[in-house]
Amino acid sequence: MSPPVRRALLSVSDKTGLIDFAKALSQRGIALVSTGGTAKALKAEGLAVTDVSSVTGFPEIMDGRVKTLHPKIHGGLLADRGNSEHVKALDVQAIEPFELLVVNLYPFEAVTAKGAAWDKAIENIDIGGPAMIRAAAKNHGSLAVIVDPSDYASVLAELDAHQGAVSEAARRRFAAKAFARTASYDAAISQYFARELKDDAPDYAALGGRLIQKLRYGENPHQSAAFYRSAEIREGVATAEQLQGKELSYNNINDTDAAFECVAEFAGRDAACVIVKHANPCGVAQGASLAEAYRKALACDPVSAFGGIIAFNRPIDAQAAEEIVKIFTEVIIAPGASDEARAIIADKKNLRLLVTRGLPDPARPGLSFKTVAGGFLLQSRDAGHVAVSDLKTVTKRAPTAAELTDLQFAFTVAKHVKSNAIVYAKAGATVGIGAGQMSRVDSTRIAAAKSAEAAKALGLAEPLAKGAVVASDAFFPFADGLVTAAEAGVTAVIQPGGSMRDAEVIKAADELGLAMVFTGMRHFRH
Ligand code: 5GP
Repeated sequence: MSPPVRRALLSVSDKTGLIDFAKALSQRGIALVSTGGTAKALKAEGLAVTDVSSVTGFPEIMDGRVKTLHPKIHGGLLADRGNSEHVKALDVQAIEPFELLVVNLYPFEAVTAKGAAWDKAIENIDIGGPAMIRAAAKNHGSLAVIVDPSDYASVLAELDAHQGAVSEAARRRFAAKAFARTASYDAAISQYFARELKDDAPDYAALGGRLIQKLRYGENPHQSAAFYRSAEIREGVATAEQLQGKELSYNNINDTDAAFECVAEFAGRDAACVIVKHANPCGVAQGASLAEAYRKALACDPVSAFGGIIAFNRPIDAQAAEEIVKIFTEVIIAPGASDEARAIIADKKNLRLLVTRGLPDPARPGLSFKTVAGGFLLQSRDAGHVAVSDLKTVTKRAPTAAELTDLQFAFTVAKHVKSNAIVYAKAGATVGIGAGQMSRVDSTRIAAAKSAEAAKALGLAEPLAKGAVVASDAFFPFADGLVTAAEAGVTAVIQPGGSMRDAEVIKAADELGLAMVFTGMRHFRH
């Protein structure tokens, strides 16, 4: 049985759509009860409203910290109308029940995202709101709870379809959404505390997020999927604005994230471009301009780059846009786009263009998680960075200045390639990438083969790996991988070191005349 809605409690911080909704409720004969600011807004529009304080017989005190925390309110939200004891208690205590609760919370997430000081953040922790939402959601058998202005229209549709009541199915749906909201709200608060206290210990509560959009399907068409924004708003892919193009798919978002996180490593440096396919970079390059960086990245593996995801470290300009539209691309992401670039890209109706306000900080703290059957694994994200001063030359020959620059570049890219990762690079561009192999020597061979193919595509006589450097995301367990890279033409090597057979690998490097540096840091990525 769905009780007809006679009395509604409205208490909202975000007053979007409030007036029209309250008018529509009022027109349907529903009595309105409201907290201070909400009541004021409604009265200003000439609506009849009862103040919460006149229901409780108690003023709102302590700057609004205590407004609705009162048995006259919570009794009215928690009374199970199908329970005769509850109904009797309402009568004995002279408590009037509610059939509808409309609450949205103090804007804690928005206030902290803008960098509010500690005291202001704390004052924006809503206490009475979540208490009411949870009470009403628990008691969804007797009333409907609405936490999102975008649901106002569907409440009115429900009232009209069910003789002034909200159906049980809808009440359950709204209750589920209400609990999701309080969960994500508390997750945002706990995440804020963890950040302010510099507590990087993984805490699953901090995974709370807010739904951005339901996706058509997941990695495959038979999987369902959705996209969430973490409570903490950062400059990552989840904050991007889509300016044009088809709806993003699960795989698009995953690949775009991989590309943008990789290009963010080059913040504040020369123009940089990353092209990603299946979550792995297939070309990364720096250049004097974005267009040049794109051309160099494309040259690494033009076959794979078809239908790729492109990320830039600067706002995209017309010149780069002209280059990109020459072949089929799925997504472009950049921290901005010039008007000319937008106009050029607009000709490709399906091409998705995403812009953000800035680049994500590769050094930021944060979490990454992965599900396993029956649980999940949580770890701090790989924010590791290797500086030149961390590098240890282990061979007789030290790298030249040019080699050193390429070694650092290659190792940075290797961090973003699935293990086992091998990256050949030359003059600020990748020239061969071996990804995701179960054996490191296979990744080394694949990278060499790719570099030979790319050279052929460019009409060059020598493989691109000739005179390049090589990075390995983890140590070479044997000398074979290193020998393969040397045969492909590399002159210098960067790798974490730490193998039982380091001495053997170093000896091989010396015999081949290679320069090799150890980073002391590994970048597995699975
Ligand atoms: P208003 O603008 O109507 O004065 O306040 C609305 C806000 O107050 C809503 O976001 C609601 O969640 C919150 N709220 C309602 N009751 C209480 C309470 O007892 N304590 C606190 N801290 N917030 C409340």
